[in-house]
Amino acid sequence: MGAIKERIDSKNAEEKPALLPQEIGTDYTFKRKIVWFNAIGFLLLHLMALYGVYRLIHCDPLTVIWASGLMFVSGEGITLGAHRLYSHKAFKAAFSVRLAVIILHTIAGQNCLYVWVRDHRQHHKYSDTDADPHNSNRGFFFSHIGWLMSKKHPEVIGRGKNIDMSDLESDFLVMFQKEYYKLLYAIFAIGIPVAIPCYCWNETFVNSLFVSYFWRYIIQLHITWLINSATHLYGTKPYDKFMNPVENYIVSFIALGEGWHNYHHAFPSDYRAAEYGIRYSITTFVIDFLAWLGLAYDLKEANAEAVKQRVVKKGDGSHPVFGTITEETQLDEDKEEIRRRHAAATG
Ligand SMILES: [Zn+2]
Ligand SMILES: [Zn+2]
Repeated sequence: MGAIKERIDSKNAEEKPALLPQEIGTDYTFKRKIVWFNAIGFLLLHLMALYGVYRLIHCDPLTVIWASGLMFVSGEGITLGAHRLYSHKAFKAAFSVRLAVIILHTIAGQNCLYVWVRDHRQHHKYSDTDADPHNSNRGFFFSHIGWLMSKKHPEVIGRGKNIDMSDLESDFLVMFQKEYYKLLYAIFAIGIPVAIPCYCWNETFVNSLFVSYFWRYIIQLHITWLINSATHLYGTKPYDKFMNPVENYIVSFIALGEGWHNYHHAFPSDYRAAEYGIRYSITTFVIDFLAWLGLAYDLKEANAEAVKQRVVKKGDGSHPVFGTITEETQLDEDKEEIRRRHAAATG
């Protein structure tokens, strides 16, 4: 999720016929070329953020509250907006919500929404193969940040062209943000977050720049990246043990409810991104609140029976309710139920 800069011109990429993800696989002998511009850029950003940690001690406490609050609120531009609303079309939203999403998403600064959504749709379509932009089979570092500082795999470039983006291309707000992204980034990700503490409570420019921008920006990026790395590597697989994504409590807590990743990959268009709704999911709570106001509608949920069947057929046994049921035990239960019904019907 998230990218700072488009790394490769995809015009020269060769067209390839569509294949099933498992047929693409991961070529572990493939050697990646580092994009030094991005690598050095990230190194500098981290050094600035580190100095931001030092400035946290010296700045006005209001600036820390402001930067943390901004991180939290703009996080919804990612989780509620770019992810559940735009990438997965898990619900529909009024113009006012979509406008707020575009502004919050720009404050978070994780590239324009169009590129964010394209990368994420590709991640779901070709999960953990060479066509996945942040293939977790290449390890924690690559799926976390390494993918943003290395040349894209030819499979990513080739298959990326086949991702349907027509819905976003007909969305004025999305295309406006894409067209003027650099200017909007300067205003919403840097300008306003840094200016408010200076004008409203006389914070110094240096404190505000390093806390409200560099520190906030890098911390939020790492939280987002954990969804690509940690939640594809460390946790349980109650819904599907044959895929890499896992359920991870810690990431769910810090990433506004986006860490129930095994469920999410099994049922990507469920607006809750988790079976149990608002459990550690502030984003689901916000969508429910917007629906109550009439600003969000057509909320999609996975069918409960389909979820149970997936747990029984493919889960790793860690599901809190259906974890102990296997296909065999369920078959026995089904036979018993048929016998009971038959006995009741025949008296
Ligand atoms: Zn994922
Ligand atoms: Zn997703």
